[in-house]
Amino acid sequence: MEKNFPILYYHFIKAPSATTRIKGLYTTAKHFEWQLVQLIKKGFTFITFEDIALKRYDVNKLNMILTFDDGCESLYYKAFPILKKYGIKAVIYVVTGSIGARNIVWELNENKDPLNILTKEQLLEMTSYGIEIGSHLCNHVHLSQLPADEMKYELVESKRWLENELGKQIYSVAYPFGSYNNEVLKTATDTGYLFGVTTKSGNNLTAGDLELFRIPVKGYSLRHYWYFYKTFRNQLNIIN
Ligand SMILES: [Zn+2]
Repeated sequence: MEKNFPILYYHFIKAPSATTRIKGLYTTAKHFEWQLVQLIKKGFTFITFEDIALKRYDVNKLNMILTFDDGCESLYYKAFPILKKYGIKAVIYVVTGSIGARNIVWELNENKDPLNILTKEQLLEMTSYGIEIGSHLCNHVHLSQLPADEMKYELVESKRWLENELGKQIYSVAYPFGSYNNEVLKTATDTGYLFGVTTKSGNNLTAGDLELFRIPVKGYSLRHYWYFYKTFRNQLNIIN
């Protein structure tokens, strides 16, 4: 697989609350739109893992994948309208055991903000537009810490559920907390995932298809305009 493309990595498209512990997971809609405009100006084309699997992209273009972890409803209300405005595709990783949940706090999630999770109807609307859905497991757990049978269940059952409910092939998995090991990689491959994304930072020229690197992006205060430039200049050498 041609790997000369960056994968960006967002969580929540909204402002952090006063009590938010990990503010770096938040990007306001205003920052998000500004970031996309910069990337469009640079000539990026936004593709999905399905595009790669079906060889439906141009290797000579500046390609990029936008990913969002955790599947919170701010993606539908804030990010989706912006993606549609610019005709951009993206990949959203959802936790199947929490679809449609209101005000939940995942036990293992260090960020204790209550989350509203995308509903099945919202996922269907977004997939019909061209947003790709990937697995973020059935539960938001550390895969490398689970017994083998539970680890396998998380990978198999989340993929099966999404394919059944959305009527689409699921190509990729995002490991919660970036937690994986060789056994996880083997099981993910056996389960039929073609791609896996981690929380390791960088580009992908040397990464395996099941352990792709990503670039975390944040933007909730003025200084993040500078942070965005710095991230791209240092890691990708693409913004002057
Ligand atoms: Zn997550």
